[in-house]
Amino acid sequence: MARYVGPKCKLCRREGTKLFLKGSRCYSDKCSLERRNSPPGERKKRFRAKMSDYAIHLREKQKAKRMYGLLEQQFKNYFKKSSKMKGITGDNLLRMLETRLDSIVFRMGFAPSRNTARQLINHGHILVDGKKVDIPSFLVKAKQHIEIRGKSRQIPIIHQAMESHKSLGQYDWLEVHPEKFTGYIKNLPTAEQLPQDIDHRLIVEFYSK
Ligand code: SF4
Repeated sequence: MARYVGPKCKLCRREGTKLFLKGSRCYSDKCSLERRNSPPGERKKRFRAKMSDYAIHLREKQKAKRMYGLLEQQFKNYFKKSSKMKGITGDNLLRMLETRLDSIVFRMGFAPSRNTARQLINHGHILVDGKKVDIPSFLVKAKQHIEIRGKSRQIPIIHQAMESHKSLGQYDWLEVHPEKFTGYIKNLPTAEQLPQDIDHRLIVEFYSK
């Protein structure tokens, strides 16, 4: 599947916020955004210029799309699906994105980034309810169990991710047992448990125009 392979930090600078695309580096003082918070290729003066209403909506959509590592059409498809579901479209959208298997593996701390989580899944290192699932977009349901396959538990990047995850805390809709390399989905995230740093109303308005 096609995927953005350019410089990741550039995306954070473009959105003016941390998208956490590079694992432990994102939590350190090596983070490019900490060092240079201006859009790539633009002068500060222009960056500070007032954004149009359209640009505000566009940037929020781009931010979410890039945070979850999706391409335009994939993101649009999620929006279409979420708008046909019962409930608030924006909540549905974020819930679907959060419950993608790559996002869950990242949130559980088994991978330093969603990108690495995707690779681990593609290579068959992740089990869902005891069965190998190698599709990063697989939507995990409540009460399902996630597990690192036995043979894969020695992979250094998984250990490093779990080590740095310890200090980051956990999500209360997920249960993680690092010593067993397993995790459990207690419930699908409620509106309050969804990421609060994405304003989904702006995304819904962007697609509704
Ligand atoms: Fe973004 Fe991480 Fe790069 Fe910082 S280190 S700019 S959070 S990808």
